[in-house]
Amino acid sequence: MLLTEKVVLSPTPKQEQWLWQMSMAATKLYNIALQQRRWHFYRQHGTAQSLSYTYQNSQLVELKKAFPCFKQLYSLVAQEVLRLVNKDYRSFWGRLKNQRLNGDEVTARPPRFKSALKYFTLPYIQSGFELDDEYLVVSGGMESYKTSKGKTKRRQHKERIKIEGYRNLPDNIHSLTISYEKGKYYANLVYEITPAKLGSERPLKVVAFDPGVKTFLTGATDSGCLIEVHSTVNRSTRYFDKEIDLVKSKLDRCKKGSRRWRRLKKALSTLYQRRAGQINGTLHATAKLLANSRHDIISVGNPNKLGMASSDPAKGKGNQRINRAVQNNWPHKKFLGYLGYKTESRGKYTHKADERYSTQTCSNCGNRQKLKPTIRTYKCPKCAMVLGRDDNAAINLLNNLLTSFYRPKVNYRDYRKKKIYSRTLSGQWYVAYKKVG
Ligand SMILES: [Zn+2]
Repeated sequence: MLLTEKVVLSPTPKQEQWLWQMSMAATKLYNIALQQRRWHFYRQHGTAQSLSYTYQNSQLVELKKAFPCFKQLYSLVAQEVLRLVNKDYRSFWGRLKNQRLNGDEVTARPPRFKSALKYFTLPYIQSGFELDDEYLVVSGGMESYKTSKGKTKRRQHKERIKIEGYRNLPDNIHSLTISYEKGKYYANLVYEITPAKLGSERPLKVVAFDPGVKTFLTGATDSGCLIEVHSTVNRSTRYFDKEIDLVKSKLDRCKKGSRRWRRLKKALSTLYQRRAGQINGTLHATAKLLANSRHDIISVGNPNKLGMASSDPAKGKGNQRINRAVQNNWPHKKFLGYLGYKTESRGKYTHKADERYSTQTCSNCGNRQKLKPTIRTYKCPKCAMVLGRDDNAAINLLNNLLTSFYRPKVNYRDYRKKKIYSRTLSGQWYVAYKKVG
């Protein structure tokens, strides 16, 4: 399976200039190739076949002679730019054809010229780059240089760009892109890993988690332990939602396009970015914690249907905050994605559990009752079981999974202790224990 890792680059001012030169060359190449296709279409339409990638690629050598700036580009990057033109063009025709066939409104627009002011994301496929500890060595075009004996020779231009923050990076990277966002340069490394095999010599350790708004995850293991994983996701969401609302209401009150409006717009986009950054960081850390735990199968309730959100506004008055947290950017979905690949790469398995009725059903006797989202304790009228709402749901999820393996069910009386994971703001996990019942 393929994974991507995004790293921040810190180029020197000179390297920055070089990166922009390459971006401009790539933009120019893209625009020229696009222009060539346009002309060909207007002049030759119906009389000749449309231009292909192969044709444009074969002209690259001559183009480099006519426009020396293309010599700065690594040759495979230049080819990749031409492939991109081909892809953009073909996807336009595909969409156009589909929309016409289906009789839909035609919204497909041909690819547009790119602006030289925007950074062109440079694609490196298979070669032209190398990782050297905390440096990324990227190739440019060919350049001539003088040897010590005064001879002129040619070599590949290479730049060693520092990667910010030291960490272990995979060594089997097969492609990367260099991009620029809001003043920062990034390298997106794509690499392949072979998932480990799920061991089956011993009984598999199973844990099931119920995702919630109040507690991020509440789980039950098959060895008699309840787990709570707290996360700052809800706190971050709440904080940023408040800030975003504030900026939005200010935005509504000022003239569109004015200086103040532009400033607020910028502040808003920064807030969105910071919110995403904080939440993603926490989600990754939480997924890693679970993937590194000793459980082989991690079952998580799939929050597919927004069952917890009340669609009736009058009903949801009392739990507006919960409703909003559920509807807005429900982060559990993302979390499941992260957990999926993290467990797979460690030879474990993530199971997406069907959450239906898991909160309503009594895990002891199977009786069902409706519970409002605000009620945090499950009190069974039939068998008098009293248990935390989320604990009960987690036990139900675990039992569903265990019965599918023909293994005995667990009971709430088996659980005597609770393990509580919380994370400090500096990113350290700490564990606390609590007695149950
Ligand atoms: Zn009961």
